[in-house]
Amino acid sequence: MGITPARKAVAFLVKKGQDIKIYNSYGKQVVDFWAFNPSDPHDFLSMVHTRTVLLKVSLSKGDKLYSTRRKPMLTLTEDTTKGVHDIIWSACDAERYRMQGHDSYHGNCTDNMRKLCFPNRVPWRCALRDSFPDFHIADDWVPDPLNLFMNVAIDHRGQLDIRVPTSEKGQFVVLKAETDLIIVTSSCPQDMAPVNGGQPTDCEYGISGQQEASADIMTQILQTISSSHRRRRRVKVALTFDFDAVSHWLGTGCHPDNNMADYSSGIFAGQVGAVRLLTLLKKHGIADKVTWSLPGHTIETFPETARAVVDSGAEVGLHGSTRTKASNR
Ligand SMILES: [Zn+2]
Repeated sequence: MGITPARKAVAFLVKKGQDIKIYNSYGKQVVDFWAFNPSDPHDFLSMVHTRTVLLKVSLSKGDKLYSTRRKPMLTLTEDTTKGVHDIIWSACDAERYRMQGHDSYHGNCTDNMRKLCFPNRVPWRCALRDSFPDFHIADDWVPDPLNLFMNVAIDHRGQLDIRVPTSEKGQFVVLKAETDLIIVTSSCPQDMAPVNGGQPTDCEYGISGQQEASADIMTQILQTISSSHRRRRRVKVALTFDFDAVSHWLGTGCHPDNNMADYSSGIFAGQVGAVRLLTLLKKHGIADKVTWSLPGHTIETFPETARAVVDSGAEVGLHGSTRTKASNR
C-alpha cells in the first residue's frame, strides 16, 4: 500500500490490466489524478475528451476514461462512494490561491505534479520529474486532472459550487489500466475552500499485483546470487542496504514539507522493514554476503534491529550520524 501524503504528489507506473485502488483514507480528501502514455507525452488522460465521448460531466461505475487520442486509458470498475467525482475543475495552482487572497506562495497540485518548479527559488518535490526524469512534458502546464472525490455541484443555470466531498473514511475507487500508464496522484493542498473539508490529509493507494511483482524481481535477483555460488560465476551482484530509517528525514531528506508519514516510514523501516529483509536474506542463504550501512542515529534508535544486522554476519559500515551532508554547516 502506498501513500500520497497530504499536500504532496506521487508518481508510479502501472501495466495494462492492473487495478489502481485509491482510498479516501480520512474521508474528505480530493485526489488530483493524471495518467500519461509512457511512450508518448502528448497522449494523456483528457477530461475534455472523456466528457465528449461519454456525453456527460460525471462518472459512473463502468465508464471508460479517454486520452487526447480518444483511446480508453482507464475504466472505473469499482466505486464505494456515492459516485461524486469531478471532471470539470482545473488543478489548483499558485495563482488560484493568490486569487483567493493568499499573498504568499501556497503549495498546489500543479507544482506538485509538473516537471520543473522552483517556487521561491527552493527546489520543490515534483512527482513526475523526480520519478520519471526522462519523461518530458511542458514545464509550465499540466493537463486537467480527474478530481477523485471532489464535489462540484452544477445548478440548473450551469453555475458551479464547490462543496465538501460526500465520500466517507475508507471508501475507495478502482481504476483498471487499459494500457501501460504513468500515474500521478496529488492529495490536494486546498485549505481555503471546502474542497477537502478544510483539512488536507494523506490518501492511500494500491496497485494490483505490485507486491507480487516486486517480490518476483527480488526472488530472481536472490536466485541469481545463490546459483552463482553453485555454478560457474557468470554474474556478480553486490547488494548494499542503506539502513537510514528515520535518520534520512533528519539529514539529507530534511525538508519543510516533511510530515509524520515520512517519519513513520522511517520507524517502520527500523521496526519491521529491516527485520523482514534480514529474514528474506537468510532464507536465501546470503545474509552474510551483503553490506549494510548504518547511521549512528539508526543504531541508537533501533538497537535490537542493528544488533540483528551485525549478528547476521554481513559487512557493516558506519553511515555517518544522521546522513547530514558534509557541506552542511
Ligand atoms: Zn489541488
